Amino acid sequence: MNRPKRMLVENIAWARETTLADAQFFRRLSLGQSPKVLWIGCADSRVPAETITNSSPGDLFVHRNIANRFSPTDDNTMSVLEYSVRVLKVDHVIVCGHYGCGGVRASLSPLSNDLPHVNRHIAPLCALAGRHRDELDKSPGLDARADRLAELNVLEQVRLLRQSAIVRDREPSPLVHGWIFSLHDGLIKVLAPGYDAQHVDRTNDVQVELLQTSSCC
Ligand SMILES: [Zn+2]
Repeated sequence: MNRPKRMLVENIAWARETTLADAQFFRRLSLGQSPKVLWIGCADSRVPAETITNSSPGDLFVHRNIANRFSPTDDNTMSVLEYSVRVLKVDHVIVCGHYGCGGVRASLSPLSNDLPHVNRHIAPLCALAGRHRDELDKSPGLDARADRLAELNVLEQVRLLRQSAIVRDREPSPLVHGWIFSLHDGLIKVLAPGYDAQHVDRTNDVQVELLQTSSCC
């Protein structure tokens, strides 16, 4: 069976299983959406937003592109932000990068003539790497440099989002969070908390509790 056909068969199975587990699930979905979170993540196939956060259809409004960039000059990105903040009224905007990101790594390597669109898309990453050259040069090897740049990239997108008029002008403004996902253990690290210090402490407590619970099992 080819891959698309396999996916269609799996879709039928999923729809049946979902209905069996919750007979009202699709009726609720059809009534509309009210997600609380806008997720801006990498297009990488290994970082599916719903899967890694155990979310369901309807939970997340999702925008993904190579290297989870927020570009104020891109109508694709901006329309997603505008609609989710002004119409859906999401409370949280989460930028989630990941270690081992090919797009970030490409920005540290010679650009390919075969990928003009990718080159333009990652040009701001190349510039970001240039601004942090001294720090990045201290990292041992390309993988470590790319992983540090992936973190800096998340922080940069958080900064740009918090500066954007769409986020600033909403009352109250949605909280902007910066996260990074590890392909090695499946865990997310918080780089930029959206909450104030009091809430951050509690968030960290919950994470520690969760880790302790999972390590017991
Ligand atoms: Zn990536």
